[in-house]
Amino acid sequence: MTRVPLRQALADLPPYVPGGRAPVGAAAFKLSSNENPYPPLPSVMAAIVDAAADINRYPDMYATELSEAIAARLGVGTDTIVTGCGSVAVLGHVLTAVCEAGDEVVLPWRSFEAYPIAITLAGAVGVPVPLAAGGRLDLAAMAAAVTPRTRVVLVCTPNNPTGPAVHADELDAFLEAVPSDVLVVLDEAYVEFVRDPDVPDGLAVFADHPNVVVLRTFSKAYGLAGLRVGYAVARPRLAAGIRAASTPFGVSHPAQLAALASLDAADELLARVDRVVRQRTRLLDGLRAQGWEVPDTQANFVWLPLGEASTHFAERSIRAGVVVRPFAGDGVRVSVGEPEAIDLFLEIAGEHLSR
Ligand SMILES: *Cc1c(COP(=O)(O)O)cnc(C)c1O
Repeated sequence: MTRVPLRQALADLPPYVPGGRAPVGAAAFKLSSNENPYPPLPSVMAAIVDAAADINRYPDMYATELSEAIAARLGVGTDTIVTGCGSVAVLGHVLTAVCEAGDEVVLPWRSFEAYPIAITLAGAVGVPVPLAAGGRLDLAAMAAAVTPRTRVVLVCTPNNPTGPAVHADELDAFLEAVPSDVLVVLDEAYVEFVRDPDVPDGLAVFADHPNVVVLRTFSKAYGLAGLRVGYAVARPRLAAGIRAASTPFGVSHPAQLAALASLDAADELLARVDRVVRQRTRLLDGLRAQGWEVPDTQANFVWLPLGEASTHFAERSIRAGVVVRPFAGDGVRVSVGEPEAIDLFLEIAGEHLSR
């Protein structure tokens, strides 16, 4: 019997490995998926409950009110906003909208593990460029990797999973070097956690460069990872193309209302982000005081470059009550969570060094 063939690309696809879950029944902190440790605000919960009453209807396909609220907050036109089912989905739609089969997409590596998958599924070919020292993007090498086949360059800033963000002077030189018909995607999933004054505001970069698209999300700082809301900011012509490539009704009605309620409560939510940033400093300083070499981080996680010891370290950490995310042979990413989780993790990390 002959079988239905699957696309060859699927056989070559690296699997997306989700951050581990806490073992059932065990007391454990989940620091494996860069989630916000705080529960939803009561106002956001109320918006979700209200939205549930309309769940027999399709949502507003273009998330009109949410797009208007995002645009007002960012100071851009509503026609530049394209929402989607998480910014991972929006990235897929961006690539589908601009890549022909076999086009090249330059990406940093190691970086966000969704990138190689999204590129391959769009029928494009990924061109990974190794990170520079300290887990930083090597923007000069990425510019040099651009060829006439290149349609898109992905710039993950801060870089997941290593932590550093690109600086304004580096990004300016990079955009100077990249042809204006190559799309540059600034993935700013962690922008609200950035405190380094040398990091540019992606929206200012977007204002100056028609070939720049900014990706942002409600999953991290705004604490809505479970509802799946992200968006792109793009020139209206590009935005229309991304919209045309999007899954219809991709953002549910509860997700739209929860994101709107979150924008209404932005002050309160960003105060929580400040608290996470303070815990990040405590974690980073604590690890360095123990003797760990940890790259700078502008996101809500730190990177331990443990190499071959990564998987073993992560298993020990999970047994001791903290679920972290190993990248086999490379390093371990630890999300910044509750203060008690940071205390416990610092104990585990210190113990590892003293063995
Ligand atoms: C978490 C993350 C996203 C956002 O994912 P959502 O699909 O919006 O939940 C995008 N890019 C990077 C680099 C991330 O780490």
